[in-house]
Amino acid sequence: MRYVDVAIIGGGAAGMSAASRIKVLRSDWNVMVFEKTSFVSHAPCGIPFYVSGFFEHFEELCTYDINHFRNERGIDVHTGAKVVEVSEGAIIVEENSKEKLYEWDKLLFATGAKAKRLDVKNDELEGVVYVDEILSAERIKRLALKSEKVAIIGSGYIGVEMADAISRLGKEVTVIEILERPLPEYDAEIAAILKSEMEKIVDLRLSERVIAFEGKDRVERVITDKGEYKCDLAIVAVGVAPNIELAKKLVKLGKSGAISTNSKMETSKEDIYAAGDCAETINIVTGKPDWIHLATPANKTGYVAGVNMAGYELNYPGSVKCQITSFYNVEIGKAGLSEYEAIREGYEVVSAFVTTKSSAKYFQDGLIHLKVVADRSGRVLGVQAAGKGVGMRIYGATALLYKKADVRDLFFADFPYYPPVSRVWDPLVVAARNLFRKLGMP
Ligand SMILES: Cc1cc2nc3c(=O)[nH]c(=O)nc-3n(C[C@H](O)[C@H](O)[C@H](O)COP(=O)(O)OP(=O)(O)OC[C@H]3O[C@@H](n4cnc5c(N)ncnc54)[C@H](O)[C@@H]3O)c2cc1C
Repeated sequence: MRYVDVAIIGGGAAGMSAASRIKVLRSDWNVMVFEKTSFVSHAPCGIPFYVSGFFEHFEELCTYDINHFRNERGIDVHTGAKVVEVSEGAIIVEENSKEKLYEWDKLLFATGAKAKRLDVKNDELEGVVYVDEILSAERIKRLALKSEKVAIIGSGYIGVEMADAISRLGKEVTVIEILERPLPEYDAEIAAILKSEMEKIVDLRLSERVIAFEGKDRVERVITDKGEYKCDLAIVAVGVAPNIELAKKLVKLGKSGAISTNSKMETSKEDIYAAGDCAETINIVTGKPDWIHLATPANKTGYVAGVNMAGYELNYPGSVKCQITSFYNVEIGKAGLSEYEAIREGYEVVSAFVTTKSSAKYFQDGLIHLKVVADRSGRVLGVQAAGKGVGMRIYGATALLYKKADVRDLFFADFPYYPPVSRVWDPLVVAARNLFRKLGMP
């Protein structure tokens, strides 16, 4: 194959996975990565654990050092290099206070997602911060350590994890959520378990809309439609949006607003690819395009893009959108659809909700609350769980959903038994048996 110049915009999970793959398969190609921050292969997933003091140096959030990519993998990594314009065959990069032009034969958008702005009065006040790039970890920790009262706006998984982290620093935390439950993607029965754990530790305010921040020089209060809360720091975590500013002039976007891709991570334009949080992929459960902005799809779509860019063929099958998080003693996880998501997708659903121990009866801890959602044909659409031993069940459910399993598969899957961590009749199996009854199966 002829010599090729590859330009990759974004040095996160997707960008570095693609760059590494291309260099493995085409060691003689020129692979350039342009990253606007000073960090590559960073893992924002670790931000809450850095903030809570689980580890000391925030550079540990980077999986590999930049020199590893340059020296060991031969990738031409440019940091502090912001791509400001993209056109057919060329990009313009702001680098060392100058604009430079680089030509490309193949281009990858791996620009990730950006935190949604709250857009209320005084949202630019000092002390109102967003959780996005890894530098925000350092800023949030520094400000949190100096604060007494911290408000967290939003209780998606980032808000929940930040509430856990900040309260572990001994700070008074108020969490304000516009919807009626934390982790609104989950069904009410599952979110209720998290809600009662959160209420033991933080002031959880549900169904409240933030309308303004107030303060003289910096934030002192959050004002909602129901009250006001004093704070020295306000952390906004109200969701993310795909970062498509550069891409939208050149390639088609999907319904979600992220870049539309096929299973090779090709966009609507030849030789332009997209991967990670800026790209749309397929939701394996619904079979439809979806925007699944999580770390494992980002790494894998980057890998797949890299293989195809290098001239080989690999198809990304899609994702079942599996996720796990925790708040103190409650683990909570989900793979596939919740019941309300399945109904919204037009499925006629049956569900089983079980509360059982996740270990043998002579172990003291270990209640798990687990819900399985299936359609009328018995196909499993989603599994959610809260309590103890959630990770194992979500791992099992993920593999089954990936293979489009039905409730009989869920029942017969040979989950291992070991008294401290599981049961002979696993919670997943108990839920499957309940569904047999509801589906009129023997
Ligand atoms: C606090 C937090 C916790 C999370 N926890 C989890 C978790 O537990 N599990 C999970 O699966 N996912 C989690 N995620 C999501 C996960 O981090 C993302 O899905 C993943 O990082 C996406 O990788 P990416 O490469 O697509 O994008 P990113 O990692 O965002 O990388 C994109 C890169 O592009 C760069 N860039 C953007 N525009 C330009 C430009 N114009 N020029 C140059 N560079 C540019 C950015 O600086 C960035 O480095 C979490 C996210 C956050 C914020």
